[in-house]
Amino acid sequence: MQLQVKTILNAIQRFPGFVFQDIRLHRHPDGRPRRIEIAVEAHGGIPAKCSRCLQPAPGYDRLPERSWLFVPLWGVVTWFHYAARRVSCPEHGVVVEHVPWSDGKRPITLAMMCFLSRWARRLSWRETARAFHTSWDCVYRSVQWFVQWGLAHRKLEGVQSIGVDEIHWGKSKRADNFLTVIYQIDSHCRRLLWVGKRRTKATLRRGLQALGQEVVQGLRFVCSDMWRPYLKVLAAKVGQALHVLDRFHITSHVNQALDQVRRAESGRLRAAGQPQAEHLKHMRWKLLRRFSRVRGRARGQLRQLLRTKLATARAWALKDLFEHFWTYKSVRGAGEFLGYWTWRALRSRLEPMKKVARTLRAHESLLMNWFKAKGEVSGAAVEGLNNKIRVVTRRSYGFRTYEAMEIALYHTLGRLPEPESTHRFC
Ligand SMILES: [Zn+2]
Repeated sequence: MQLQVKTILNAIQRFPGFVFQDIRLHRHPDGRPRRIEIAVEAHGGIPAKCSRCLQPAPGYDRLPERSWLFVPLWGVVTWFHYAARRVSCPEHGVVVEHVPWSDGKRPITLAMMCFLSRWARRLSWRETARAFHTSWDCVYRSVQWFVQWGLAHRKLEGVQSIGVDEIHWGKSKRADNFLTVIYQIDSHCRRLLWVGKRRTKATLRRGLQALGQEVVQGLRFVCSDMWRPYLKVLAAKVGQALHVLDRFHITSHVNQALDQVRRAESGRLRAAGQPQAEHLKHMRWKLLRRFSRVRGRARGQLRQLLRTKLATARAWALKDLFEHFWTYKSVRGAGEFLGYWTWRALRSRLEPMKKVARTLRAHESLLMNWFKAKGEVSGAAVEGLNNKIRVVTRRSYGFRTYEAMEIALYHTLGRLPEPESTHRFC
């Protein structure tokens, strides 16, 4: 038996009530294949269905022919053509029939939207468009549909822990260049739940509202930075949950203070032409990394720097000491340690360190919640998700709008459910 394209199409994409009527290959003048056109027709014996209730309904009239982009066959751009009927549904009146490969106005078949969306997770949108002979806009609209479908069908039951964070994207520091993100950070499921523009109280309120009252009231743990607008909203809206300041952020505040000390001192020494400035050259990451992770030659250089009487060395000692904070098992022990550490920092004559000490004291009770939640909340989950977000936002040269980036974030990090397997081609 001869294998026909129709046979393949029927094997991969059967639409009851429709038949693949006519398949043509169009060529370039030099003979290379240009596109495949597939004419679809309604099966005579099967009545059309109302697109709203999916019930069979009597025909009314026929709309002009439309085209939908299909998954390329053997690398050749492929289109479906079909003139949809309108039906007269007893319940919904005159409406267009249900067209099983189409969703709304997009000129792309569901199969192609799913196909492009899955590839758009592995490649950038631009690469995806190029690989399958289509436009960036077509990829964007496909992923947008895919994400909307996923958001509408995702389940939010069982969300117990969330992490709230702010992310900067793009170049400018304008308010619009910050995002507020809400992650689920339960050990059984880590994903992006919500993302919104800006980092104000209103933004976070919007996010919590989007999750819904039921989800918010079921939360047991909330993890965040010390960003004041968030603290306020979380206290007001998620009061029943244990609010934890996460380790990752606290550590990065201490690190930033150390780095400020280093930069200021380095500038001072170089301006004065002091030879000691040499000690501070190329030391940034060696200072910021955990001591146990600095190895080999770098470790030797770090030790040399720490033997000096430089302010940077003193700041580093404070940073290193603070690591112990996280090892306490009891709230009391941790509290006493925090008292001791801040006391030393406040007497260090290092302004950035003093500032951190004051901030930590001001948030002491929230800090202590870390020990109450011991083992239940993973700050590393927030850090891990943040890193993944950065991978997406940095790819953002291809994203012309904030909306496109938001969709890309849900697409890569939302763990959204996917439409049924009949539309799977990759
Ligand atoms: Zn109907």
